[in-house]
Amino acid sequence: MTCKDCNKGVPPEIAQLSKDRYGILLCKRHLELVDRIVEENQTPIEAIQLFYALKEAGANPMLEWWDGHKSVDIAISRVKLNIEIETDYHLITHEQAINDLEEAMHSFKNGFTTVRIPHVVVKYYLDATVKNILGIIQGLKSNLKVI
Ligand SMILES: [Zn+2]
Repeated sequence: MTCKDCNKGVPPEIAQLSKDRYGILLCKRHLELVDRIVEENQTPIEAIQLFYALKEAGANPMLEWWDGHKSVDIAISRVKLNIEIETDYHLITHEQAINDLEEAMHSFKNGFTTVRIPHVVVKYYLDATVKNILGIIQGLKSNLKVI
């Protein structure tokens, strides 16, 4: 049993704890690191799972990246892609909707692309989610070349 982040061996009790908490195998150091990030940002568990799946796929993601205005759940900085995991999308209010639109405007102005993914999509279709994000990265990369 090795840590999904650093590949170091993980003792069974830590492995169990991290699996119960995030569904991912992490060593004590990385479990504490993720715990701190989650505590500071209210990061959804699906963001942690997607982050590690993207990392495994070689996408070089960053967890809770500060974009200058707010913390983004997952960022792929080399193609300026921000990924937000939506946990309360079905309860969206009109204030939230206009705030999202304004946020999207700022992102686009700064050359960022923001993708919002409902948490259930990560939960039930993790592989397909990763595949689609890799496709988005590919698309952004070829667009960047043109500029
Ligand atoms: Zn580790």
